[in-house]
Amino acid sequence: MTENRDPLTQAEDAELAARRRRMAGDAEDAPGMVSALADADERFIESALRPRRLTEFTGQARVREQLSLILQSALRRGRPPDHVLLSGPPGLGKTTIAMIVAAELGAPLRITSGPAIERSGDLAAILSTLSEGEVVFIDEIHRLARPAEEMLYLAMEDFRVDVVIGKGPGATAIPLEIAPFTLVGATTRAGLLPAPLRDRFGFTAHLDFYAPDELEHIIRRSAGLLGVTLTDEGATELSTRSRGTPRIANRLLRRVRDYAEVRADGVVTREIARTALEIYEVDSHGLDRLDRGVLEAVVRRFGGGPVGLSTLAVALGEEAETVEVVAEPFLVRCGLLARTPRGRVATAAGWAHLGLTPPPSLAESPTLFD
Ligand code: ADP
Repeated sequence: MTENRDPLTQAEDAELAARRRRMAGDAEDAPGMVSALADADERFIESALRPRRLTEFTGQARVREQLSLILQSALRRGRPPDHVLLSGPPGLGKTTIAMIVAAELGAPLRITSGPAIERSGDLAAILSTLSEGEVVFIDEIHRLARPAEEMLYLAMEDFRVDVVIGKGPGATAIPLEIAPFTLVGATTRAGLLPAPLRDRFGFTAHLDFYAPDELEHIIRRSAGLLGVTLTDEGATELSTRSRGTPRIANRLLRRVRDYAEVRADGVVTREIARTALEIYEVDSHGLDRLDRGVLEAVVRRFGGGPVGLSTLAVALGEEAETVEVVAEPFLVRCGLLARTPRGRVATAAGWAHLGLTPPPSLAESPTLFD
């Protein structure tokens, strides 16, 4: 019974087990409902929902087209394509694209990440065992340690690594040929990437947040794979609350599906989606409790701002970093909050989102802080 279940069922089981652990209070690492990050269990179910080929990949039209040209031309020439750098916020499809690159090339894929490569020897071990044309995916490449990064320069350019034997003055570098490969690097912080590394990628793509209609398409596809019945309005409702992020869209779909199955007839309609997301405290813009807390504090406790980050964090009882990294970027992106040299300021839209009338100074010059 347990051996021949399909990967999706296995993934669902793993998620159920994770949820049970979470309910038992054993889950400090569980992601929030609208966090763009995934924990290990979520990654497992995500792999079942991942598009496998470029034609199945929704959105990012320009990147898709450019990539398709590069891959087709490489296949035609019978040579590995240029190294590919993907940048953009978490959950937008960087890992998915790396997997698609390998699949389209019919090549094996090695997956690792910047923090996992602690010493240059770890990288040498990967690179020296590659077969010709293999794709190497390094996630969070901006976190690669310096010596490994330097080894990568040579490997990317000349398909060679220098393995250092011994220490001190007697150390010798032995050059080692490696098979031509394609590196796909992913980063959420392109600005932190040193220029020499950035320059060695022949193709750089930035992934942007998805439009609601693209997210709707992704949600419908995932619903099909998960066997969830979803109305058009249900899909629209989920798409507008997903913060432009496929990972969040897929997560909201699964949570709303749970609600629909337990409290209703299993069909995800607009009403069901709204009620369920109210329970999970995800509002009409996709704001969660922390985001709303930040906005409310700026508006109600500091009269709309400006307020400094540390003062705001103390008022909320949160770490400044949590406010700055987790809540703020999204609030700024949807135009509810603005960063000014004097501190954080709620915009007219921010006041309106809380159902409040903005002060006349803001209403008159809504673009003052844009
Ligand atoms: P990243 O590496 O950028 O953090 P992932 O590639 O892991 O993001 O994507 C997160 C999840 O979102 C995956 O499970 C995948 O199913 C889904 N996803 C991302 N982009 C798309 C897309 N364009 N179409 C369909 N699903 C997508």
